[in-house]
Amino acid sequence: MAIVGAGPAGLAAATELRRLGIDRVVVLERESEPGGVPRHCGHSPYGLREFKRPMLGPAYARSLVSQARRAGVRIATGVTVIALKKGPCLEISSDAGLSEISAKVVMLATGIRETTRAGQLLGGTKPGGVLTTGALQGLVYGAGMRPFRRPVILGTELVAFSAILTCRHAGIRPVAMIEPGHRTTARWPASLLPRLLGIPLLYRTGLVSIEGRETVEEVVLRTPGGERRLAADGVIVTGRFRPEASLVRLGGLTYDPATGGPEVDEFGRTSDPQVFAAGNLLRGVETAGWCWAEGRAVAGAMARALSGGLPPPASQRIGQTGEHLAYVLPQRIAGGAAPALDVLQLRACSAARGRLSLHAGGQETAGRALLALPERRLLLPLPSPGSDPSVSLEPSS
Ligand SMILES: Cc1cc2nc3c(=O)[nH]c(=O)nc-3n(C[C@H](O)[C@H](O)[C@H](O)COP(=O)(O)OP(=O)(O)OC[C@H]3O[C@@H](n4cnc5c(N)ncnc54)[C@H](O)[C@@H]3O)c2cc1C
Repeated sequence: MAIVGAGPAGLAAATELRRLGIDRVVVLERESEPGGVPRHCGHSPYGLREFKRPMLGPAYARSLVSQARRAGVRIATGVTVIALKKGPCLEISSDAGLSEISAKVVMLATGIRETTRAGQLLGGTKPGGVLTTGALQGLVYGAGMRPFRRPVILGTELVAFSAILTCRHAGIRPVAMIEPGHRTTARWPASLLPRLLGIPLLYRTGLVSIEGRETVEEVVLRTPGGERRLAADGVIVTGRFRPEASLVRLGGLTYDPATGGPEVDEFGRTSDPQVFAAGNLLRGVETAGWCWAEGRAVAGAMARALSGGLPPPASQRIGQTGEHLAYVLPQRIAGGAAPALDVLQLRACSAARGRLSLHAGGQETAGRALLALPERRLLLPLPSPGSDPSVSLEPSS
């Protein structure tokens, strides 16, 4: 079995496959060290679900790696998978040149990428000092640098709070955190953090432009009281994560533009029944613990696939009614016991108070009233196959 990506999802899957008695399990990782994103996140909390204690990202990554190695997993680093072909067969590039690996079953666990300033279409001049959280962490934890002292943080989803912790570690004091909505996207108690650290949290505020010559000098903000200039020497762009899905698209797997990842059924099986997917590749950012659990569960389905223990792939997609839901995952339901993805994961497009429902066989089979915020996890039970299922989020009038 071959797994692409040595983050929490790929390492958990590999360890589980060995525990289930699969002989040869190799994880291919393009970076020089395995561990994925947590390797660069020198803050807590990682590991609560997996190791029952809060850990710093690098220590958590090392624990996952040693667990996998102890289980007999082979981890090949400095190896980039450049193509997924029928077979399945992986075309790889490393210092040794180009080569191919064939496997009975493949898992893609390639994680996410952050949308950069250019991707977020932020206006203004083009000075230095505009970084994504990932790039900031590379400089702070990886190179021991302090790229700025008084930046503005754009966004309030979970990773924006990771940016605050990274700044704190480096002695950087953000001048403000800005949020277009009227509440933080991340769940309480994350929103307490800026208050505790004395960082102004500006709601109903958007970024008009970033200004400066060589480095950032100020940002222009749109506030409820009109435009306002704020002196800052850097900007941290957070959020808008997209799955790292180039292998999915180039490999001809069915791609879901709504999640930005591959279409899968509840076993994590893509449109090629020998290719599975898990972790953030499925839908953008979730916690490490969630991705780890997903990797482990999908590994169980991969082992079952080897012995013909999975139901035939499903052709029917779960429908979506209305315009308020951004996506539903898994996208297809095959039926059968012990699903790896055992709940429907959904996200709202924008903040909405209303009723989240699952309809199957022409009636509501599950639902609840809630306040949905974008980027927050929404869950519903899996529908039965063949019941023409659909999900909706209807705002209350
Ligand atoms: C800035 C930031 C801060 C975060 N802070 C926290 C936190 O405090 N607590 C928490 O629980 N979660 C946090 N998260 C989320 C958590 O880190 C992720 O959910 C988790 O790492 C996802 O695991 P994954 O295995 O899906 O992907 P990743 O960790 O992204 O791993 C994917 C791996 O695949 C490799 N890869 C990609 N493409 C290829 C290819 N073609 N060939 C070979 N290898 C490839 C990548 O190099 C990478 O190592 C944070 C995320 C970010 C971005």
